[in-house]
Amino acid sequence: MTPDLFRESVRTVPVVVTAPLDGPFDYLLPEGRPMPEPGAVVAVPFGRQVLPGVVWDHRPEKSVGPGRLCPLGPALPVPPLPAPLRRLVDHVARETVSPRGQVLKLALSTHAALEEPRSIDVYRPAEDAPARKLTAKQRQVVEAAALDARPPADLARAAGVSAAVVKKLVDAGTLVAEARAVAEHWSVPDPEHVHVVLNEGQAAAAHRLEQAVAAREQATFLLDGVPGSGKTEVYFDAIRACLKAGRSALVLLPEIALTSQWSARFARAFGVPPVAWHADVGSARRRKIWRAAIEGRLPLVVGARSALWLPLQDIGLIVVDEEHDTSFKQDDGVTYQARDAAIARARFENCPIVLASATPSLETMVATERPGPDRIHRLVLPERHGSAPPPPVQIVDLRSTKRQRGVGFLAPRLVEELQATLDRGEQALLFLNRRGYAPLSLCRACGHRFRCPNCSAWLTAHRLRRRLQCHHCGFSMPEPDHCPECGTVDALALSGPGVERIADEVRHLFPKARVALLTSDTATTATQAAAIVDAVENRKVDILVGTQMVAKGHHFPELTLVGVVDGDLGLSGGDLRAAERSFQLLYQVSGRAGRADKPGKVLIQTHLPQHPVMRALASRDRDRFIETEIEERADGGLPPFGRLASLILSGPRQPDVQAAARHVALAAPADPSVRVLGPAPAPIALLRGRWRERILVRAASNVDLPAWLRVWVGPLKLPASVMLSIDVDPYDFL
Ligand SMILES: [Zn+2]
Ligand SMILES: [Zn+2]
Repeated sequence: MTPDLFRESVRTVPVVVTAPLDGPFDYLLPEGRPMPEPGAVVAVPFGRQVLPGVVWDHRPEKSVGPGRLCPLGPALPVPPLPAPLRRLVDHVARETVSPRGQVLKLALSTHAALEEPRSIDVYRPAEDAPARKLTAKQRQVVEAAALDARPPADLARAAGVSAAVVKKLVDAGTLVAEARAVAEHWSVPDPEHVHVVLNEGQAAAAHRLEQAVAAREQATFLLDGVPGSGKTEVYFDAIRACLKAGRSALVLLPEIALTSQWSARFARAFGVPPVAWHADVGSARRRKIWRAAIEGRLPLVVGARSALWLPLQDIGLIVVDEEHDTSFKQDDGVTYQARDAAIARARFENCPIVLASATPSLETMVATERPGPDRIHRLVLPERHGSAPPPPVQIVDLRSTKRQRGVGFLAPRLVEELQATLDRGEQALLFLNRRGYAPLSLCRACGHRFRCPNCSAWLTAHRLRRRLQCHHCGFSMPEPDHCPECGTVDALALSGPGVERIADEVRHLFPKARVALLTSDTATTATQAAAIVDAVENRKVDILVGTQMVAKGHHFPELTLVGVVDGDLGLSGGDLRAAERSFQLLYQVSGRAGRADKPGKVLIQTHLPQHPVMRALASRDRDRFIETEIEERADGGLPPFGRLASLILSGPRQPDVQAAARHVALAAPADPSVRVLGPAPAPIALLRGRWRERILVRAASNVDLPAWLRVWVGPLKLPASVMLSIDVDPYDFL
């Protein structure tokens, strides 16, 4: 340690590093280098690696003696990470009890974008070129290069000569190279592309949103309207106002709803397809989008959950469509709720945010009644004149359908309706939210059930692949030809239905019908899914069978019958949102049927016809259902009237995990307003080869649960083989 390091002139820079640690950490500013501004992206030595980090706005809580500081690495050639995004990183780290550096990783996910923008060599005539006599061909090249510096191949093409001619000029020094950044062209959405006529209800809502955009009002709106009430047109109008004001707009959609239909709709309204950000976007395109966002060249992006972390500059509006969708909640890693985080980002950006849904989440509905600054303003869209009346919903009581021989998973009444629909030349949809052929495989001789070796879960039979597969860890094995327990050959029995089995049953019942199957197994990319959707739209399919992939984002005008094969599927499982989620899903599936001149019909098969979800669906009384659910949650002190957190401890050895879980639970601070339940084995006690113990924490709604959790788990020391993951406000209870 040299003494001058203790002088005040030693300058340190606080940096949050993209590593699973909190930070910021102090780095030593090399002499002669100006102090970087907050947000600057830098490379820093971290252990044995060099990682990207961001200069932060506040100093570390604990400072390290300057003698132990590492020097700050070079600045990366990127504009600074915008301040509102840095505030979002702070906020989400705090709310999810995650290390700040791990959250920052979400915002710097596209590493290639942090490098120097790609450039190519273009050639122009050298100013001090030695005077030489040029041939006619060479002169043509030099003239072309003087007009516009270009890569050699382009010059050759422009001058109509061979590549060798250009090369000779380069070698002679007549043409010189200069680097030029690769031009990236964005088709910019045009807010004036079409003039849309809105009905009275839409216009009122749109006007309110436009005002909020113009005034940079910090407000959250709920756009609440049945399918077909025109929510999209209304928020498109708000996007127009935002683009006209020269600010950028961010639209979040569940991945599954980000369809070609949505993009086509956007293109009709704004003249160009939207720039989309989702799992299928390749790395080169990601780099380009990320770079354009941080350079302020991206006026609009639509994307799934992770688009929230794009470094867009000067956001003027955020939209979260299908706000109730549970895919906005991330279940592992940083367990954030993208809708809630989007509301926070809008606050940091100083702009309004619009949540849109036909079946708003309970949390959102409760917030529309809440006084104070967190209140959500509800804008209700009336049903449109001339739009399809909601299709009548009929409940098919499976208890009365006797298990006759030859009757499969479709009740006779549903089969009759399918026949009638086919006879009329119309289309039908059968919905079952279960992948594969059968959820259970067993031995007919001894009853042995096939389970996953890595998880406490049964294997699902997939007939298309002739394999048994685990939906939790991806383990799969060929369909066995004999039982591993008793050795009986060809005794595999498949129990219960999956979509593949329903498709088989339909093909058997209606051999002439054209049947399509839409599940994540038949459509593994957006393009494949779009092809199936197109086939349905173009009437090349009579009966579509699908999982929740069919529930969202598509509307098929010629489809007049929707059959829900198992309405009870989502109701079990002990999840506090089970009823709400089931209702939302079935309500959405029901909305796929019919249009103005061809009314649709919905049949839901159930063993629980008296369940509140079935009754609400049959009467289409959404608000009554929500009220009842709200009362129940309020009585039970469940979210949003109380707070929950789930702590999962996992590891390869069960006794270690159990001991660690007991240790964690015993260390909980005594607090009358917080209850610590457990540890107990998690419902999936073995997952991907790791044993899991769960501790559930319940608190009153006024408790700052994340802060409480930090005080509790922060000082804990766990064995290296045991991992603790915390999920505040969990959606996943397995
Ligand atoms: Zn057996
Ligand atoms: Zn498994």
